[in-house]
Amino acid sequence: MRLLVRVLKRYAGEIRPGNPWQVLVSCVLSQRTKEEKTAEASRRLFSRARTPEELEKLGLRELEKLIKPAGFYRQKARRLKEIARTILERYGGTVPKTREELLKLPGVGWKTSAVVLSYGWGIPIIAVDIHTARISKRLGLVRPDAGPEDVRKRLEGVFRKQDWLIVNLGMVNFGRQVCRPIRPRCEECPLKRICKFYNDRLSLPSRTARVRSGQG
Ligand code: SF4
Repeated sequence: MRLLVRVLKRYAGEIRPGNPWQVLVSCVLSQRTKEEKTAEASRRLFSRARTPEELEKLGLRELEKLIKPAGFYRQKARRLKEIARTILERYGGTVPKTREELLKLPGVGWKTSAVVLSYGWGIPIIAVDIHTARISKRLGLVRPDAGPEDVRKRLEGVFRKQDWLIVNLGMVNFGRQVCRPIRPRCEECPLKRICKFYNDRLSLPSRTARVRSGQG
């Protein structure tokens, strides 16, 4: 795991605690949306409303217009309004700091709560997104059919707690730049020696040859 942590540290970059409210909003906007579109919608929205109070004051139509690039914008606008209202009424305008409380917010599930705790509050928890899941499977850390919670438990078991934030940020950037969903850049990957996907692929031609020659 030392090599993996070293590599992920390189990709994690500088770790700074985010703004829990903005992390939560971006997470809602990111559902079923490409990263660039989420970033665009978040930028537009935060230029007008940076807090639950400010979002609550926006008219629904205006909010829809601001977040339109994220897609499913009507649904997401209603959801954001509900979340802002709940946070204002029940939590005095502060995003909850525990998983139990976060899960009580409308439409907030395991993944969003982990992302808010980790990136927003800097609380150690492995937040499993598509990059984390894909890389963990390719490396052979989890089974190919593992669900997000299986991945989280496994990663929290193999990495030291102090490295969990590095793992989160590092996996996302490493997944965008190297271990891409399509055409991963395996030849230049510093992890290829320990990667199951890569080594399985390497052994494919020889296995096929052995089978063809009747030795397999
Ligand atoms: S060797 Fe390829 S599949 Fe394995 S971690 Fe690196 S980029 Fe991903």
